[in-house]
Amino acid sequence: MEERQSQMMVDLVAAIKMAMTPPPSMYHILHPPTNPYWRYVKKIEDYSGGGGSRKWKCNFCGYEKTGFLIRVKDHLARIACRDTGSCKEDPNDVC
Ligand SMILES: [Zn+2]
Repeated sequence: MEERQSQMMVDLVAAIKMAMTPPPSMYHILHPPTNPYWRYVKKIEDYSGGGGSRKWKCNFCGYEKTGFLIRVKDHLARIACRDTGSCKEDPNDVC
């Protein structure tokens, strides 16, 4: 009986976690499991001011940027976003 109750608690916790998780698309944009963009940029410094930001350099055009790796996507996709410049050189099949 007790075992059954603890299993119910586990299920309940899992259900709550699922309810609190953002939709998959949004979640993966914010927290990619393995970031594919490291293929396209070179990491220059591990941490620059903390908070998970990195200094990286574009393999294609040499653009340097200190910030979150998610900005690499903006750069390669040529999305004019905040202070991230768009890539001048990337091949079209990157994004
Ligand atoms: Zn670039």
